[in-house]
Amino acid sequence: MKRAVWLIVALVVGLVVGGVLHEWRLAPPEWLPSLVRKWLGSEWLPALILNWLNIVGQVFLNLIFMIVIPLIASALILGVYELGSARGFGRALGRTLLFTVITSTASVLIGVAIVNLVKPGVGVVEASAVAADVERIRSQASAAKPAHQAIIDLVPRNPVKAAANAFDGEFISFVVFCLLAGIALSVSTARDDAKRVLVPFLEQVMSISLKIVGFAMAFAPLAVFTLVLHSAFKNGFGIFLSLAWYAGCVVAGLLLQHVVVYSILLRTIGGRSPMKFYRDCREVYIYAFSTSSSNATLPKALETAETRLGIPPRIARFVLTVGATANQNGTALFEGITVLFLAQVYHVDLSIQQQLFVIVMSIIAGIGTAGVPGGSLPLIMILLLQVGVPPEGIGLILGVDRFLDMCRTVTNVAGDLVIAALVGRGEPDNAEVAGRNP
Ligand code: ASP
Repeated sequence: MKRAVWLIVALVVGLVVGGVLHEWRLAPPEWLPSLVRKWLGSEWLPALILNWLNIVGQVFLNLIFMIVIPLIASALILGVYELGSARGFGRALGRTLLFTVITSTASVLIGVAIVNLVKPGVGVVEASAVAADVERIRSQASAAKPAHQAIIDLVPRNPVKAAANAFDGEFISFVVFCLLAGIALSVSTARDDAKRVLVPFLEQVMSISLKIVGFAMAFAPLAVFTLVLHSAFKNGFGIFLSLAWYAGCVVAGLLLQHVVVYSILLRTIGGRSPMKFYRDCREVYIYAFSTSSSNATLPKALETAETRLGIPPRIARFVLTVGATANQNGTALFEGITVLFLAQVYHVDLSIQQQLFVIVMSIIAGIGTAGVPGGSLPLIMILLLQVGVPPEGIGLILGVDRFLDMCRTVTNVAGDLVIAALVGRGEPDNAEVAGRNP
């Protein structure tokens, strides 16, 4: 929590100092001493803020970029492996997958609809102020290619090359490779050997990658300060209001997912009263909100599912354990809104295909995101790069991210519980299936 407070302080101070300096540079107030007025007009002030202080923010971003490939590879392969290896569950697995896709798709569509309707990022900064940044990113992104070639390139000829060029337009091919590797691992006849060697290895890769994210997070407040200062100095105060709108869009989307999508599913397919369900889950919500981590909330969710919600334990254990990493509806919604919001801020017009790409990648993000605080940030940065939005934009949202992380984690965990309730309906409990299942 302490770091969360520092992040908010960094955001506010960066915005205020940057915004004030922006205004004063344009029209220095009369009451300022002449020395200060001269200093405001000098060239070394922009050099200090836009170049030298910017080093901290850029190093922070590079630290996160550094682990994107190992993190995505390990999290996706493990996520798919876990989903695919539960073969004894047959029917339950099929239904879990189906509900995961339905709830994730619904949440991303809600997010995309809201952000297109409210347009929280439109008109925040002058197009000319960000044109150079956007051009730089555009030139890094892959050149547009014809649709048939794009489909062929989905399957990489060389996954190592796809990984090396992930930031230059080949990320999706690398994702396809990881998905295939996860499926292959789960159906491989060498499954036991794979389990003993490969799975712990991938788990280690994932945990080391997350440790490096932790290093970056250690100086996140300073990085947020410099990134926000940079942006507010260049663009003025407008960004502040739009951040509030952006956060409002995310919270409204999460609420809609709960109140509409989950309630309908619980009542129609689950045959339960949504109100009673939410009341029974309230302790889980508090855990999820305060830890911002689906993984940390898993034990509480398991206990609640079995004791309060009466979900058969074997179903609860399977759905909730897999869901803690492989089903994150709140994160998917958040990713969709964030990428489209920052595209609005940076005047990047996304075509229908690009928006569809963001939707599909946000759904996949629900599988490939680690259930830890800030687990979705690396994927957002790569998504931003893919659609030609400067990833520095992440600095703008980091200040409000901890709060949004708390909110989306509640939806993530609630989604797992809802799916467990839907899959568990009509399933026999443990005692009845003893001896029948491997
Ligand atoms: N904190 C989220 C979770 O654990 C993941 C994220 O969206 O960053 O579910």
